[in-house]
Amino acid sequence: MLKGKFCIETRDDEVSVKIGNKLKEFLLASNMKEDTENPDYVFAIGGDGTVLRTFNKHIDNLDKIKFLSIHTGHLGFYTDYSAQNFEKLFFDMLALEPKIEQYPVLRLKAYCEDGKLVGEYYSLNEITVNNHTGTTYAAKVYINGVHFESFRGDGLCISTPTGSTAYNKSLGGAVIHPQSAVYQVTEIAALNNLVYRTLGNSLILSEDDELTIKPINADNHRISVDHLHFNYETISKLQITLAKDKKISFIRYNDDSFWQRVKRSFISND
Ligand code: NAD
Repeated sequence: MLKGKFCIETRDDEVSVKIGNKLKEFLLASNMKEDTENPDYVFAIGGDGTVLRTFNKHIDNLDKIKFLSIHTGHLGFYTDYSAQNFEKLFFDMLALEPKIEQYPVLRLKAYCEDGKLVGEYYSLNEITVNNHTGTTYAAKVYINGVHFESFRGDGLCISTPTGSTAYNKSLGGAVIHPQSAVYQVTEIAALNNLVYRTLGNSLILSEDDELTIKPINADNHRISVDHLHFNYETISKLQITLAKDKKISFIRYNDDSFWQRVKRSFISND
C-alpha cells in the first residue's frame, strides 16, 4: 500500500466527485494523510483535461509527486482506471507494488523584442504558436541555432511524446512511445512557396536539440500550452527543449501497455 500524503483533484461532475469521495475514504482508512499543498501522490479524476489542469497546478513540485488518474469521460489517455472499474484500484493498491513510469515534458521560454524573458512554461501535451488575430503566422525556425526553414501558415505544434496522441495526431504527426526522450514539431496548414519553404513532414527532435522560433511579424502572438492560451503584443523569440529538470511520474499497477491504449482509443475496443 502507498504511504504518505495525497491530494485528489476532481472534475466538477457528479460521477467524478462521487469517485473522489470514495477514494478519499479508502486512502484515509489506509493511514494516508490528505495534504493539498505538499502531496506525495496526486489522484486526478475526470478526463485528459483534468490531468492537464492537475499537472499545471502542481508544476512546481513535479519532481516530488506521483500521479494516478481515473477517467470518467469517454477518452482517458493518461489513465488505467475508469468509472466502471475504479474499485479495482483499491484492490490493486492493497495487493500490488506499483511501477513508476516517467514521461518527458516540454519547456518553453518566450522573449520580447528587447530580449527580456516574458514567459516560461512547461507542457505535458503540446505547445502551439500562432497569431491570435487569425492572420497567417510566419516564422523562421532554427534547430540548435542553425536556420532550418521559414514557415508560413496557421502555426506550429510542438508536442511531447504523451501529447503525440492529442492535437499532434489530428495534424497527422506520428504517435510516439511516451517514455521516449524526444519531442515533435508538426506544421499546421503550411503555405509552401519559393519564399516560405518547409519540410512538410513532422520533425522528431532529440532531448539535446533546441528549437528556436523567431516570428517574422512579432505582433499579436499567441502561445497555447496544453489547455491554456496566452496572448502577447510582441514576441521576438521562443526557445523550446525537453525540460532537463522536470518529468512527470505516473503510478501504474497493470501491464496495460501504451500500444494497447492507442489501439483501444483509436482502432477498436476488443
Ligand atoms: P477539450 O476538452 O476540447 O479536449 C480535447 C480532447 O483531447 C479530449 O477528447 C481529450 O481526451 C483529448 N486529449 C487530451 N490529451 C490527450 C492525449 N494526450 N492523448 C489523446 N487525447 C488527448 O480540451 P482540453 O480538455 O482543454 O484539452 C486541451 C487539449 O486539447 C490540448 O492539449 C490539445 O491536445 C487538444 N486539442 C486538440 C485539437 C485537435 O485535435 N484538433 C485542437 C485543439 C486542442
